[in-house]
Amino acid sequence: MQLKNRTALVTGSSSGIGLGIARAFAQAGANVILNGFGDAAEIENIRAGLEREFGIKARYDGADMSKAEAIAGMMERAIAEFGAIDVLVNNAGIQHVAPIEEFPLAKWDAIIAINLTAAFHTTRLALPAMKARKFGRIINVASAHALVASPFKSAYVAAKHGVAGLTKTVALEAAEHGITVNAICPGYVLTPLVEKQIPDTAKARGISEAAVVRDVLLAAQPTKQFVSVEQVAALALYLASDAAASTTGTVVPIDGGWTAH
Ligand code: NAD
Repeated sequence: MQLKNRTALVTGSSSGIGLGIARAFAQAGANVILNGFGDAAEIENIRAGLEREFGIKARYDGADMSKAEAIAGMMERAIAEFGAIDVLVNNAGIQHVAPIEEFPLAKWDAIIAINLTAAFHTTRLALPAMKARKFGRIINVASAHALVASPFKSAYVAAKHGVAGLTKTVALEAAEHGITVNAICPGYVLTPLVEKQIPDTAKARGISEAAVVRDVLLAAQPTKQFVSVEQVAALALYLASDAAASTTGTVVPIDGGWTAH
């Protein structure tokens, strides 16, 4: 799969799945715009490393995906430099695990803003330049939780189901412009996002952390294996490629069989 002469923006790519996707795209020859929080020196190492290793242009934009104006600024800067974002990956996401009666209001708002509304903003701002080039790939990193629910994740499951709906709607609106819109639905991938929720899930369910991994996380996945970042990145690379031109409006599980239950 080649992405030469393409520019890809991956939100939340300072860590985890987003970083894996940005790396795979850079390896395929795309210029990449990284985004996400973290230690400035570490992010600069990642950015410079991608340029050195793959001979592409890598930029970093620290825009906060919970803020509409910050997102608009990031999109403007990227389009001004590269002419268009050819491949947009909406990946930034956060999680909070709590029963709905105790769900902190600020966490609900932040999860809906970062996991769902940010994709609305990036998408609406990326589309005009994609349409002008008659090419675009929008890849939304949703979740198995876009297809099924788990208790204590009301905001996350609501946001991810929303992403599935957004994906299908924009796919229909953009279909005649050479633009595809798809959602990837990973099962559990052992990234910082999952590592952080293990203690909270243990508390919410009153069980040990080891029992969360065995009886909650991997219990859902018939393969009994975490999905790897590289596997998710390979699917994203396919969806970004020319070969995937007829794949649009899909919500694709990559979940070790979880949603086959
Ligand atoms: P992660 O915590 O490793 O990465 C999340 C990224 O989002 C980081 O780069 C972080 O800095 C960034 N981010 C968080 N808030 C932000 C904000 N306000 N503005 C900009 N960036 C922000 O987590 P991950 O597991 O790699 O998750 C990436 C995506 O994959 C998320 O949308 C998540 O819901 C989804 N997902 C993860 C799993 C899993 O098991 N890890 C499963 C299904 C879906």
